[in-house]
Amino acid sequence: MSNWEQNVRRAVPYTPGEQPQESGVIKLNTNENPFPPSPGVRKILDDFDTDRLRLYPQPDCSALITAIAERYGVKHSQVFVGVGSDDVLSMAFMTFFNSDKPILFPDVTYSFYDVWADVYKIPYKTCPLRGDFTIDPDDYKQPNGGIVFPNPNAPTGVCESVDMIEDVVKANPSSVVIIDEAYIDFGGESCLRLTEKYDNLLVVQTFSKSRSMAGMRIGFAIGSERLIKYMNDVKFSVNSYTMNTLTLLCGRAAVQDEEYFNKCCGEIINIREYSKEKLKDLGFELTDSKSNFLFAKHKTAKARDIFESLKERKIYVRYWDKQRISDYLRITVGTRGQMDKLFCALKDILKGWTL
Ligand SMILES: *Cc1c(COP(=O)(O)O)cnc(C)c1O
Repeated sequence: MSNWEQNVRRAVPYTPGEQPQESGVIKLNTNENPFPPSPGVRKILDDFDTDRLRLYPQPDCSALITAIAERYGVKHSQVFVGVGSDDVLSMAFMTFFNSDKPILFPDVTYSFYDVWADVYKIPYKTCPLRGDFTIDPDDYKQPNGGIVFPNPNAPTGVCESVDMIEDVVKANPSSVVIIDEAYIDFGGESCLRLTEKYDNLLVVQTFSKSRSMAGMRIGFAIGSERLIKYMNDVKFSVNSYTMNTLTLLCGRAAVQDEEYFNKCCGEIINIREYSKEKLKDLGFELTDSKSNFLFAKHKTAKARDIFESLKERKIYVRYWDKQRISDYLRITVGTRGQMDKLFCALKDILKGWTL
């Protein structure tokens, strides 16, 4: 009998939202952007010379890093890029969370944090959000081995102020604080400027949501030169070539198209605010989401039932059978047309139930 399994690194993997393959689906379940990427990305793909694929990509990713550094007004040496922000966050966990003390994050939050903590054997403790799903900064003033939370938070959409984040960062000079700004471009205020003042703050963003490039896999972190150096040391100890040649070029084209980016984000914000009103009219209660999704609870109907009924009509939203959030649906903001179809379906479903 072999017992090699006793030495296996055990993991309970993250469950991503469904990617249904059937046609005619309205997909509002994984916070993808309904608009195409910048036309500049199209041009890169059309003009790409496949002979370039013989060569390794730039190991320092400088084409993309320079463009990000320029856009955000920081030094090249303050930017780290990875295969989506999941890769960036995972590298940051591995690099910075090495204490015997627990790392801290909210009880209701992005469900990848506990998965990384478990796989890297990082002790963690969750801090309950207040009743209105806001974060109590005092929870983050206890001994800890690091802090991470998204702002706006997922899946609630609730956005904290830069002052609140500064309060947490300032109180923790012996820990790295990671702020996951996956949704910050939809109306929240980024805490990026705090990285000039605090060398223990790492801000992580992604091209998956606001830049419509979830399929390309680009994420980045901005922080002090020391933080970024430590992350690069770990990254180059694991895999030097995480970003491929085409991704670097497409990412650069996207980040250089400020006008298109502003237009798309503005449009999503408008549709989101319109959708809040529509959902309220249908009997939903909502958080004041500052992201590209809505977090909604119906006054009488059960979230799971609505979720199932919508799915039968090929409308996919996200539902978690988890403590504190099992009454809620998370609905990605789609195009105006998609949202109107959703409201029609909801009206029809709810009419049948409340007669
Ligand atoms: C979507 C998301 C990410 C990861 O996005 P990538 O596609 O890996 O860049 C990270 N954090 C939160 C909170 C997210 O919602």
